[in-house]
Amino acid sequence: MVFFRRPRLSVPVLTYHSNNVHQNTYEGNDHIAFETDLRAIDRLGLRIIPLGAVVDWHRGRVPDSDVEGAVALTLDDGSWLDYHNVTHPGCGEQTGMFRLVEQFKDSLPDRSQPSLHVTSFVIASPDAREELDRKNLIGLGWWGDDWWEAAQSSGLMSIDCHSWDHNHPTLEQAAQKNNIRGNFHVIDSLEDCTSQVENAAVYIEQVTGRRPEHFAYPWGQASAYMIKQYMPKQQSRHQFRAAFSIEPKHVSKSDNVWFLPRYVCGRDWKSAQELERILLGSGSE
Ligand SMILES: [Zn+2]
Repeated sequence: MVFFRRPRLSVPVLTYHSNNVHQNTYEGNDHIAFETDLRAIDRLGLRIIPLGAVVDWHRGRVPDSDVEGAVALTLDDGSWLDYHNVTHPGCGEQTGMFRLVEQFKDSLPDRSQPSLHVTSFVIASPDAREELDRKNLIGLGWWGDDWWEAAQSSGLMSIDCHSWDHNHPTLEQAAQKNNIRGNFHVIDSLEDCTSQVENAAVYIEQVTGRRPEHFAYPWGQASAYMIKQYMPKQQSRHQFRAAFSIEPKHVSKSDNVWFLPRYVCGRDWKSAQELERILLGSGSE
């Protein structure tokens, strides 16, 4: 006898990098991809919901119906390009991701996409952002946090946490006990987790007035210590309630809440058609 069973419910979470501006094409510019995808998601009849709603569902706090036919959107690294419109030296006028969300909202009929929301995972350390801007971005002072409070209070964008300094290889000195930079697996002690997670959360709260609830691991990498010890057992210290990797699959209830998957634009899809295949699939299970 063959049993047909409904596939287990799962929810895709998508990730964009607003710093990806290389040419004005879908593949070469995450702003163009994001704007195109917002419309594609709506055309497919899917609902954009806050990342927090996915976590609420994963934790069993809301029913399946809250996330059926839904998708959540996230941005990583948190430069000005998440929010401000800028004139890029090579590619001209670029509309900030926040403004793209507003424009999309304004273009919709009333009551469609009532839960429209995006989460921006920011690098907390002002010094690290300044150094990354100077060495890795364009050096025009585009990595400030002047926009965080406005984004957070808009109701359209949450400011969440992408570590203290990304443990980025560009930095002269990163918040890692031996200054070993370039990957996040080496953040594997209470000392380093305190720097990269708690101190980052405290700074973000100072700027936005809201304690961040979701953590996105730089490069999607986390040590066994972080996933199995620090995140689940030190929750009273860091106060996060979920953490995200970039494992390319839908979030399902069987996933570890301290390593929830996300798809990445440019790596996991390169056109609206490819995104459609991801969104209409049920993940990899
Ligand atoms: Zn990152």
